[in-house]
Amino acid sequence: MKNGYLESYSALREEITTDFVIIGGGISGALLARSLTVKGSSVVVVDRRHIAMGSTCASTALLQYDIDRTLHELIDIMGAAKAVRAYELSLKALQDLEKIAKKLKVEAEFEMRSSMRFATYKKDISFIEDELKVRSKHGFDVELWDEKRIEKHFPFPAYAALYTRPSAIADPYRLTHGLLQDAMKRGAKVFDKTGVEKIERLNKSVVVNTSQGNKIRAKKVIIACGYESVNYIPMKLASLSSSYALVSEPMPRKDIWFENCSFWNTSDPYTYGRTTKDNRVIFGGEDEPFYDPARRDKLLEAKTKKLAKQFVKMFPDLPFKVDYSWAGTFIETEDGLPYIGSIKQLPHTYFALGYGGNGITFSQLAADILTDVLLSKKNDDAEIFSFDRKTD
Ligand SMILES: Cc1cc2nc3c(=O)[nH]c(=O)nc-3n(C[C@H](O)[C@H](O)[C@H](O)COP(=O)(O)OP(=O)(O)OC[C@H]3O[C@@H](n4cnc5c(N)ncnc54)[C@H](O)[C@@H]3O)c2cc1C
Repeated sequence: MKNGYLESYSALREEITTDFVIIGGGISGALLARSLTVKGSSVVVVDRRHIAMGSTCASTALLQYDIDRTLHELIDIMGAAKAVRAYELSLKALQDLEKIAKKLKVEAEFEMRSSMRFATYKKDISFIEDELKVRSKHGFDVELWDEKRIEKHFPFPAYAALYTRPSAIADPYRLTHGLLQDAMKRGAKVFDKTGVEKIERLNKSVVVNTSQGNKIRAKKVIIACGYESVNYIPMKLASLSSSYALVSEPMPRKDIWFENCSFWNTSDPYTYGRTTKDNRVIFGGEDEPFYDPARRDKLLEAKTKKLAKQFVKMFPDLPFKVDYSWAGTFIETEDGLPYIGSIKQLPHTYFALGYGGNGITFSQLAADILTDVLLSKKNDDAEIFSFDRKTD
């Protein structure tokens, strides 16, 4: 919101031919566009709105390698080898995001942080302990914090916490523009206010028809439409919900709480918070299990009050004042993993879906895997996130 339109793009006004056409100019489309152009491919990105005005601009951008399912839960779902690999890949994606953000011209406010997940209820202590055991066993950097240690560093009580590194924060809107500007320097063409109405699948190629009546001819189409991607998927794979967040006015000091670590809890849905580079607090949660933007937005005032009250209870000494609040649509899968790849019935079509609480980390994972797949390079990890993945 504080950014305004960072860059201007134009609508597509002619027929165009490319190797790859990406539908969606959010963080997922931008990461993939940059990655493909780094490898020398020709890429066209189209978005029906202004660039990065979908979920990306609503995101609170706590960038974590944690998956919505803990590692011990994921092991139960898909077996240890794949679950551990999914966590390792998520960690690598986070580290890759840092490297990419550093190379961009735009100040994407990317900073590495620590992260704390604390137990809301006493019964959650064993859940935290189980996760500590399994993550330590597989070499992740985690610590178990008991009540006393939490009390020493934070003004609110909690029964236990899993303290992890690394984690990160960023401004996803600036990051997306920075990625697309970088991709454009490498030859990508980016068009906004250009909706896709229809995809024709031919023998060896696709024709994407835009709302202005133009055609984009390409070898492959990649759908990076965020939660709107469900319109292109012939089966139900994920559930949509509504989520709420607020940002405070700037705090008078830079060190707002211990290590300015990002935090979340074990409640379902969870509540989370982080600080920003300009010393504000972002706090969110209060999810509702429905997709209905009008109904969602009606609840915004009440949800903002509830979130603000919760934050003040946790940090009573901070001079906290809500500056702005908003709501967005959130999408989750059963196993907490994103869907990346193709669906048999849809030839020449690939999906880069950054679903879940760590959608942005998954967007990078999707860019990495799809760059290999689209350039016919073997990727041994693609199966873990495929549409026909098997669980043990
Ligand atoms: C309130 C909230 C908080 C969040 N917090 C976090 C967080 O802390 N950490 C995290 O990692 N993730 C978070 N997420 C999730 C994260 O924001 C998303 O996973 C991510 O932004 C998805 O990016 P995307 O590019 O896949 O989708 P989007 O940003 O939604 O981009 C998709 C684009 O596709 C375009 N599009 C759709 N259909 C068409 C069409 N037919 N033709 C042309 N264009 C089309 C849309 O206009 C849109 O711009 C949060 C989400 C919300 C709503």
